[in-house]
Amino acid sequence: MSIKELQKNIVRLKENNDVTILAHYYQDIEIQEIADYLGDSLGLSQIANRKTKTKYIIFAGVLFMAETASILNQDKHILVPEKEACCPLANFLNPNIVKEFRRAYPELPVVTYVNTTAAVKAESDVCCTSSNSVYIVKRIKEEFNVNEVLFGPDNNLAEYAEEKSGVKIIKIPGDGHCYVHSHLTLDKVKFTHNAHPNSKVLVHPECIQEVRDYADFIGSTAGMYNYVKKNYKNYKDFIIGTEKGLLDRLAADFPNNKFYLPSQNLICKDMKKNKLQTIEKILKLLDKNKSKKLVEYEVKVPEEIAQRALNPINKMLQYSK
Ligand code: SF4
Repeated sequence: MSIKELQKNIVRLKENNDVTILAHYYQDIEIQEIADYLGDSLGLSQIANRKTKTKYIIFAGVLFMAETASILNQDKHILVPEKEACCPLANFLNPNIVKEFRRAYPELPVVTYVNTTAAVKAESDVCCTSSNSVYIVKRIKEEFNVNEVLFGPDNNLAEYAEEKSGVKIIKIPGDGHCYVHSHLTLDKVKFTHNAHPNSKVLVHPECIQEVRDYADFIGSTAGMYNYVKKNYKNYKDFIIGTEKGLLDRLAADFPNNKFYLPSQNLICKDMKKNKLQTIEKILKLLDKNKSKKLVEYEVKVPEEIAQRALNPINKMLQYSK
């Protein structure tokens, strides 16, 4: 079956079986094309919270995103094409590390990036994403009336949030990073920029400081998308310093512009574990009422953890309104 036929079948099965498909910008383009909603972590959390009315959500992203959708939708079935698609950055932090830092700094609030497990969120005061980290850090500092906050697990995002907010950050655990973004070097960015000197350089805040300092724009995947949307008539070329999936989306939506990836290593192996074929398989099981077989694909955060993790997520969503 061709990709187009597979996509057509997926859309038909989805519509007959009370399913919404959410996909992250880092998914392969053929998965992006069949999604009802496409977004970054914050956008998809908000959609999972407010817009999805169906009984089933298929979440094409990585595990922590599906967990967040489960926390926000305890009455729905959250299905993932691949349970092994995890975020290595999230694995830097666990609840015991958070508790240790809380014991050492009992007065300070804990801010955790959404790229964490549900169990870590349950130990946090507020979550943040790369879109809102600066704002969240400022708000929680004011709410707790302190001069510092605990922040984890991404070191580069922590440095970026500290620099832009002016709020001192203690990193937890101290060595967390995304292997995709943190491996982008300034040399690679400059090399690509020299080849395309009129291009605008857009990078993600999970990139290292010297790369961020060189960029014209620093933002989340949705932030970068919106930057291009606003500027595509003014500039022809853009260097995209984040996962390749965003570049594929931009190339499809802005066909008259040129987009360049500064490193061929900007590919998240976990995000790419999701496959169209597995999405179709899940939909076929639903179509044939074989719901017992869905256990293999379902992500359900235990109620006790979900209830505690809901508070920091809700606080983030309220702050982000
Ligand atoms: S790109 Fe980085 S932060 Fe995003 S899911 Fe992959 S490893 Fe995690």
